[in-house]
Amino acid sequence: MSRVVDFLTDLSDFELAYFAKFKRQTYMTARQQEINDYLITRNLTEDKINELILSKPVSNLTDNNQRCPRCFSDKLIKENIEKINTSKIEALDSLTGKKPYAEKIVCNVCDYIIFDPNNDKRIIRLSKIWQLLTKKKLD
Ligand SMILES: [Zn+2]
Repeated sequence: MSRVVDFLTDLSDFELAYFAKFKRQTYMTARQQEINDYLITRNLTEDKINELILSKPVSNLTDNNQRCPRCFSDKLIKENIEKINTSKIEALDSLTGKKPYAEKIVCNVCDYIIFDPNNDKRIIRLSKIWQLLTKKKLD
């Protein structure tokens, strides 16, 4: 059993439907075939997949796990990546050799990007304010 199929055996039908719709196409053709073969063993036809996605999960989960807003899975990948789009203060840190790292969170089931530190609207807004403030001082 390949690693991807091994991963799929842990998924609920609902998670599997989201995986099939959003992440399946990111795999090579041979892997996609394995995925399709596995979906058949779980009786997940394309119709059934669309039906599951349209049905929208009612989140009746009582745990406090962080979940994907699209498929409600808690199978998230968190990795520390280097921040590129940093604020001025963090940019100063990088001059001293301290590289700014931040956590990127991606759903392992449907590939939804939950948080990307390099695409954080708040930081972009803050750096705009910073630009305005420093510009004012120069004038
Ligand atoms: Zn997801």
